Parts: sequence; structure tokens; C-alpha cells
Amino acid sequence: MAITPEQRKTVKGQGFLSNNDGEHFSGRVITENGVLNAAQLKNIAEIADRFGNGQVAFTTRLTVEIPGLDYDDIPAVKEYAAQEGMEFGGTGAKVRPVVACKGTVCIFGLIDTQAMATEIHKRFYQGYREVALPHKFKIAVGGCPNNCVKPDLNDVGVVGQRVPAYRAELCRACKKCAVEAACPMGAAKRTDAGLEIDQAVCNTCGRCIEKCPFQAIPDGEVGYRLYLGGRWGKMTRHGTKLSGLYTREEAMDMIEKVILLFKKEGRQGERFGSLLDRLGVETVERLLEGDTLLKEKEQILNG
Ligand code: SF4
Ligand code: SF4
Ligand code: SF4
Repeated sequence: MAITPEQRKTVKGQGFLSNNDGEHFSGRVITENGVLNAAQLKNIAEIADRFGNGQVAFTTRLTVEIPGLDYDDIPAVKEYAAQEGMEFGGTGAKVRPVVACKGTVCIFGLIDTQAMATEIHKRFYQGYREVALPHKFKIAVGGCPNNCVKPDLNDVGVVGQRVPAYRAELCRACKKCAVEAACPMGAAKRTDAGLEIDQAVCNTCGRCIEKCPFQAIPDGEVGYRLYLGGRWGKMTRHGTKLSGLYTREEAMDMIEKVILLFKKEGRQGERFGSLLDRLGVETVERLLEGDTLLKEKEQILNG
């Protein structure tokens, strides 16, 4: 029996996308933070073997698609994946699956990206699953300013930061400065008066911390930078960097406020970057201050 457009729409909303042969579907498994354990990988391979065409495809946004599924097998496939705690989804004008770089284990990682992605997944992907937004909403977490996961091309991008705490009084203006040598940005420069850090160039990567043999930079505060309104695709926009440096808790609240603002002020079919340009960055920053949006949450979501 032919599959109706209505049936296709329904299963698409559940994470099963039509294949271009017009007959089969790809099931999109959500990984939460890009990490799967061995039992989950085995489970996915078994689904591909039993129900699909034997193949598995990894998407650019860290989900896993199993192609070649029959429409009638979709309930059984969902049940099978649920045995290992996995679900399908990630489509529609909603909060999309979060993407994180491997900052948790990366030698440059300044924050635990995968743990934060899991927290975002639970609070905003699962927590806002039933919330229809003006358009899709993508979140990415990067562990350092190397930006491997391209956080600033997402509606909200998080970047781990470490701000060097330079103690100028300890600097001895050495002939060869170890801090200058360690700085990949050319922001740290040894001058006759001692080390100077050009704040306009420094990207707070923290690579200079503990490099000085005289402990002129012994430590540095860890923080979370946010980029808003990025997008990539038919129309592109680099995210706007917010001036603040946030704690993890503040960053999580900011993400929720951005989603609520998008729900409240966004026009149907508008991405968050367009809303930002329409209202102006200053206005949006002002609207995100304080906890007004969080207090209005019920009202916004039910409005
Ligand atoms: S962005 Fe930084 S922490 Fe993340 S994978 Fe790249 S180098 Fe590692
Ligand atoms: S920062 Fe440290 S290594 Fe660099 S010039 Fe000062 S004392 Fe020497
Ligand atoms: S934080 Fe990074 S960019 Fe800034 S001075 Fe240190 S090494 Fe250079």
C-alpha cells in the first residue's frame, strides 16, 4: 500500500526521513552529545542489519542515520533502539540536536563540552520537544577558540574560554619571553617594559597560562562565551559575539532566554539571526538581561 504524504509527515516528525527511492526511510538516532557507548553502537548496527540496508551514516550534526527502513518496521525499530536508551528525532521547527566538539578529552579543551551538551540536550532538546518555534534552532558547544565545531554558525554557539590573569609586577622583561612564544595569536608581546597582552587580539585561549617561568601568568578564569544568530546554508550569518563572559549556569540560563525570546518575538519562518538583525543587537542584549524572560516562561510557552 502506498505511503500517504500525511504518513510521511508524521514519521518525519519522529525522526524518520523519506529516502529518495520513494519507498524507504532513514531513522535519525540522537546521540545527545556525539558520544555512543559500545552497546549502543552494536544496537545501531543490529538495526541496520535487521531492518535497514546494512549501512549507517554519520551526519554533520552528530546524529546517526540508518537508511533503507520499511515504513511498517518503524515502531519495531524505535522499540529496538529504546533498549539502549536511544531515540529518533531531530527534525522540525524546534530545538535541534545539540552538537559538541570533543573538548572533554581534547588537549586544548577548556570546558567539558560533552557534559554541557548532555545538559543542553536534557533541558532544551527534550525539555522543549513539544515547543513549536518560528524556525529550527541549533546549538553548538566548542571547547576552545579553535572553533572546530563552528559554534558561531549556530543560533547559539558556546565557546570555552580561559582569561589569563597576568601579574605585571612579576614580569622580569626577559630577553626571550616564553609567554610570547606560546601565544598562537601574537597577542602577547615582550616589550622593554615587560609583557603586554593586546586585548583586541587575545582570544582568551589560555595557552599562555603557566608558561612563564616566573609565574607572571599563574592562572586564568574559565568562562563561557556566547555567539548568537549564526546560520549556515542557503543564507549565511556569522554569530554575533556577546560581550559578557558567563559561568556555566549563566550560559545555560542565557540559552533558555534566547529560546524564549525567539518563541516570543520570532515571526513564522524567521531564523534567530534575522530576528537579531530586525530588533537590533543592543535591544536583544537588553531583553536578555535579568530574568524577566525566565519569569514569563509559562506565559510565553502557552501564548
Ligand atoms: S574546538 Fe578546541 S577543544 Fe574543541 S576539538 Fe577543537 S581544539 Fe579541541
Ligand atoms: S612574562 Fe615571564 S617569560 Fe615573559 S618576559 Fe615576563 S617574566 Fe619573562
Ligand atoms: S590567552 Fe591565548 S591569545 Fe591571549 S595572550 Fe594568552 S595565549 Fe595569547
